[in-house]
Amino acid sequence: MDPNCIFCRIAAGQIPSAKVYEDDQLIVFKDIHPKAPIHLLLVPKEHVESLMTATPQHGPLVSRMLFLAPQLAREQGAADGFRVVINNGPGGGQEVFHLHMHVLAGPRPWKQFF
Ligand code: AMP
Ligand code: ZN
Repeated sequence: MDPNCIFCRIAAGQIPSAKVYEDDQLIVFKDIHPKAPIHLLLVPKEHVESLMTATPQHGPLVSRMLFLAPQLAREQGAADGFRVVINNGPGGGQEVFHLHMHVLAGPRPWKQFF
């Protein structure tokens, strides 16, 4: 837990979020500035900065994030598919330096993401 990290603070319940899922390892909430009708953030409770600092030990965690996406997208109403985005580092457009996966879905057009 990094007290200066907004996603750590959301995971700890110190900052409110529109939470849609939680388990022992992950919290999932709606993006505060959605780029698509459905825009979720899948966030590990462990503070990992990005895939650039993740290690092979995080493999099962990243896998869990990926395989949770279809279930959550479906539950949120995505009938015909979804997009997964992970921004890494300033060069990858990452703004919150706590690893997270965007899940985007719903009727187009979507706002510019890249
Ligand atoms: P990234 O550019 O991949 O680091 O994306 C960070 C995302 O976090 C952006 O899409 C923001 O809109 C979103 N975000 C920032 N603060 C919050 C918050 N308090 N609750 C929900 N989403 C947030
Ligand atoms: Zn954090």
